[in-house]
Amino acid sequence: MTAARIAIVTGSTSGIGLAIVRALAAQNCHVVVNSFTDTTEDRAIADAINKEFGVKAVYMQADMSDPAACRALVDKTGDEFGSIDILVNNAGIQYVAPVEEFPIDKWNAILAINLSSAFHTIAAALPLMKTAGQGRIVNIASAHGLIASPFKSAYVAAKHGIMGLTKTVALEVAENGVTCNAICPGYVLTPLVEAQIPDQMKAHHMDRHTVVREVMLARQPTKKFVTVEQVAAAVVYLCSDAAASVNGTHISVDGGWSAA
Ligand code: NAD
Repeated sequence: MTAARIAIVTGSTSGIGLAIVRALAAQNCHVVVNSFTDTTEDRAIADAINKEFGVKAVYMQADMSDPAACRALVDKTGDEFGSIDILVNNAGIQYVAPVEEFPIDKWNAILAINLSSAFHTIAAALPLMKTAGQGRIVNIASAHGLIASPFKSAYVAAKHGIMGLTKTVALEVAENGVTCNAICPGYVLTPLVEAQIPDQMKAHHMDRHTVVREVMLARQPTKKFVTVEQVAAAVVYLCSDAAASVNGTHISVDGGWSAA
């Protein structure tokens, strides 16, 4: 049996991040579960993974809007496990408003959590990965890393930004056995998306059913939400030996949205 790898997944107590951390644990990875909330439920997630998959699962609180906390999360993982094989930058938030009404604090928070946090965790993790001569970095971007939608200026800007960061890091680490790639999911029904529905209803003056079908899934040709497990499976692939030559690119898991 190959030695367990060490994986950090930011924002992994909910939605896509939770599915990713579970999928990596199922692949014999020891995992760091992260959120900023530090609740009993957050810690119970790590305990449950430990019991279910027989790997070491540690909960670490860190606010991904705080550069020092991003770097400390990585440093703490290095101290606890001695190496970092996989870094998944998943933490993200959303806010929907026309650009001229977009609150400045929301803009700053989205850029910090959805983009800058990845810069900080990557910068902190790379020395360990380079020393080990191997590593996998996966950034959870979005179809909005490739295509814009109205009322999501900060989110679209941050997600386009993380695509650029992904490609730049990939070039810098290509000779070190490290890969850096992005995944671009379409709409996945998670708490983040659920929370957008009321704002979208307001912005578009529509009821829930209409906004889901005509706004959210309008550009998702399957007319089905992507599942969290489908996104997690793409992460598992990018972290596999089979993906060693996949570098500086993205996998769209969007039901065909970006084909249009
Ligand atoms: P979610 O709200 O279910 O989960 C977000 C996670 O991020 C939670 O664990 C939360 O605790 C964590 N988080 C939020 N702010 C944080 C902070 N300051 N510090 C640390 N952790 C923080 O959201 P989700 O839908 O699972 O989204 C996960 C990622 O996938 C995000 O980057 C999102 O942009 C991206 N994404 C989601 C969809 C979708 O349709 N749900 C589509 C494309 C991309």
